[in-house]
Amino acid sequence: MTKFVNEPARRVDVIHETDVLVVGSGPGGLSAALAAARCGVEVTLVERFGCFGGNMTTVGVEGFAWYRHEQTVEAGGLGREFEERAKEAGAAVPESQSLSYEIDSEGFKLVADNLVEEAGIHPMLHRMFVAPIMDGNRIRGIITESKAGREAILATRVIDATGDADVANLAGAPIQQSPKEEMMAVSVMFHLAGVDRKKFMAGVRNDPQTYKDWGGGGEWNIETSGKEDDMFSPFLKKPFEQAIREGLIPEHLDTIAGTWGAMHETGELSYMNLTHMDHCDGTNPDDLTHFEIEGRRQAMLAIEALRRYTPGCKQARLRNFGMTLGIRDTRKIDAQYNMTEQDVREQARFDDSVGVYPEFIDGYGILILPTTGRYMQIPYRSMLPKQIDNLLVAGRATGGDRIAHAATRNMSCCAVSGQGCGVAAAISVRSGQALESIRIGEMQKTLEAQGVRIK
Ligand SMILES: Cc1cc2nc3c(=O)[nH]c(=O)nc-3n(C[C@H](O)[C@H](O)[C@H](O)COP(=O)(O)OP(=O)(O)OC[C@H]3O[C@@H](n4cnc5c(N)ncnc54)[C@H](O)[C@@H]3O)c2cc1C
Repeated sequence: MTKFVNEPARRVDVIHETDVLVVGSGPGGLSAALAAARCGVEVTLVERFGCFGGNMTTVGVEGFAWYRHEQTVEAGGLGREFEERAKEAGAAVPESQSLSYEIDSEGFKLVADNLVEEAGIHPMLHRMFVAPIMDGNRIRGIITESKAGREAILATRVIDATGDADVANLAGAPIQQSPKEEMMAVSVMFHLAGVDRKKFMAGVRNDPQTYKDWGGGGEWNIETSGKEDDMFSPFLKKPFEQAIREGLIPEHLDTIAGTWGAMHETGELSYMNLTHMDHCDGTNPDDLTHFEIEGRRQAMLAIEALRRYTPGCKQARLRNFGMTLGIRDTRKIDAQYNMTEQDVREQARFDDSVGVYPEFIDGYGILILPTTGRYMQIPYRSMLPKQIDNLLVAGRATGGDRIAHAATRNMSCCAVSGQGCGVAAAISVRSGQALESIRIGEMQKTLEAQGVRIK
C-alpha cells in the first residue's frame, strides 16, 4: 500500500475578490485578461512565475506568426497588437521565413507589463493555482500557494489559461490526455551570443534549407501539402549530422535538429529550437526534472556542434536558456464542442465563431502553411468545459482532437481563444447570464469592436 499522510483542514484568508479571474498569462491568458478589462469589468491575472507572457517569455518561444505570407487571412485583434506593441518597443525583429516579426522574449516582459497596467488589470504574480473553490459544480474562486502560504481569491467568472487545464482538471471537468508516448516532444530553448552575422548569413545563402529538408527524426518528420516543400526554412540539421559522424554527439541523439529564429545585428542568434525530447509528461514533476537537466545537456552538445560546423558560430556562446522547459502538449478539456481534424483541414465555419484562424497546422507530423488565404473559424463552445459552471478555458487546452490542436495550440490561435473567453466572461458578468447562455451576437459584436475578424 502507498504510504500517505492526512493534511489537517485549515482556514484560508480571502485576500481578493474580482469579476473575472484569469489563471495563467500566456498568449491565451494575457489576451483573455486584456479583452475582459477592455469591456470595463474588474479583472485579476494570476501567474505562477514573475512575468506575464507564458511560453513567449518563460520558454523563449519567439516565433509568434512565422506562418504569415501575402495571402494569409488572420483574426487581427490582440495577437496582432502584441506584435505591433513589441515592434514599437524595439522588442521585435523581422522573422526569417515569413512576413512577421519575431518577438523578443525578454523585451516582451515589459510590453506585457505595460499592457496589463494600461488596462487596469490587477496583477498577481508569483502565485500558483493549487485548488478550485467549488460550490457543487460551480467554481467560485481559487486557492493559490506562494511565499505567503495558501490564499483564497473569489471571482464571479474564472478563465483557466494555465495551458495544462490545471483549474478545469481539479474542478472535476472531463479531461483528455494522450499517453506520454504519443505527446509532442518537449524542448529546452536557448539563445546564443557572439555569432558573426555576416558569415552566418553567407552560410545560409550558400546552402539554403527548405521545408523538404525537415525529416529524419521526431518532431521533424513532416507531411506537407506539397506547396511548402521548396520554400525557405531556417532549418539546421547538417551540423548535427556531422557531429554524429565525428563522434561529438551520440548516434541516438539524431533528434537534435530544428530551426533558428533571428540573426540579430548584435551577434545574437535567438530562438534556437533544437532539442526535442519524447516521452515527457509535462504534468509530472519527475519527468520535468529529468528533461530540464537532459535538455540543457543536449543544448550544450548542439552549441558545440554549431561552433565547429556552422559558418559564423566559432565564437558563439550560450546567452541564456528559457527559464523553464518548453511543454507543447498535455491535458485538453472535453469541451461542449471538440474541434476536429476535418475542421482545421477544411476551413470549418461556426455560428459561434470568436475569430478566424489561418490554415496553419503544425504538429503531430503535419506542416501546412497558410499561403493560399484558406482559413477556419474557432468556436466559442470549444472553450466551454462540460459539467463545470462559471469556467472557460483559453489557449492550448481547449477542446479538440490531436490534429485540431496542431492548429489551435499555436500562440496566435491561443490569443484568438483568449480574447473570445475574455469578452464572453465580461458579457456574462455584466448581463448575469450563465457563460453557456450569453448572447453570441453581442459577443461577436464586441470582439469586432476590439478589432477581431469573426467571419
Ligand atoms: C519549444 C516550443 C516551441 C514552440 N514553437 C511555437 C512557435 O514557433 N509558434 C507558435 O505559435 N507556437 C509555438 N509553440 C506552442 C506555443 O508556445 C504554446 O502552445 C502556447 O504558448 C500556449 O499558450 P497558452 O496561453 O495556452 O499557455 P502558455 O503559453 O503555456 O501559458 C500558460 C501560463 O500559465 C501559467 N501557469 C501554468 N500553470 C499555472 C498554475 N497552476 N498557477 C498559475 N499559473 C500557471 C504558466 O506559468 C504560463 O505563464 C511552441 C511551444 C514550445 C514548448
